[in-house]
Amino acid sequence: MVVQMYRVYPDNPKYQEYETKFNKGWTHAGKTARIKRIYLAKDKDVNKAYRGKRFNQYRGNKRYQTYFHGTQRACNIGRWGTSLRYCKKPDCSLCGIMWRSFDVKYTGPGCMFGAGIYTTPSSSKADIYAKNHRLFSRRHAMLICRVIASRQQNMTAADHSMTSPSPGYDSVRKPPTVEAMLN
Ligand SMILES: [Zn+2]
Repeated sequence: MVVQMYRVYPDNPKYQEYETKFNKGWTHAGKTARIKRIYLAKDKDVNKAYRGKRFNQYRGNKRYQTYFHGTQRACNIGRWGTSLRYCKKPDCSLCGIMWRSFDVKYTGPGCMFGAGIYTTPSSSKADIYAKNHRLFSRRHAMLICRVIASRQQNMTAADHSMTSPSPGYDSVRKPPTVEAMLN
């Protein structure tokens, strides 16, 4: 089942929560951004979907974080309308994730810690990856993802051959460094 997303408006507490998170997470000096629209999935739809069920099963009673994910967009999704219509263009990774969910086989080679789903609490970092592909638009789209990251494995060096965190960890993390902050 494809999970539908619906527009939420500035008077919605979820809108305010994510807008604050986005603004606080904007850590790169020299560029600015402002939220124009937010679309969210309903919990009852997520809980019925295959990926949602798997997520809830894995999560158990652990808390989840909400982190940002930037990826390539090749359509004007989110520009109009009160719900999202996924385009299914092969080069629109954003829609691909929303109707097909994340699939690590579509992740690009050369990722710092191997194939995986990369998210960040920094909205401005995710924005670097939120590229418009063959699309003239000043707007960028990024995903807000629920992430289980309660047992993070800190990595100080890249390891492109990784396929999963080491036993006992649920995620891999690159601690912020001076170099990363200058990116
Ligand atoms: Zn699309």
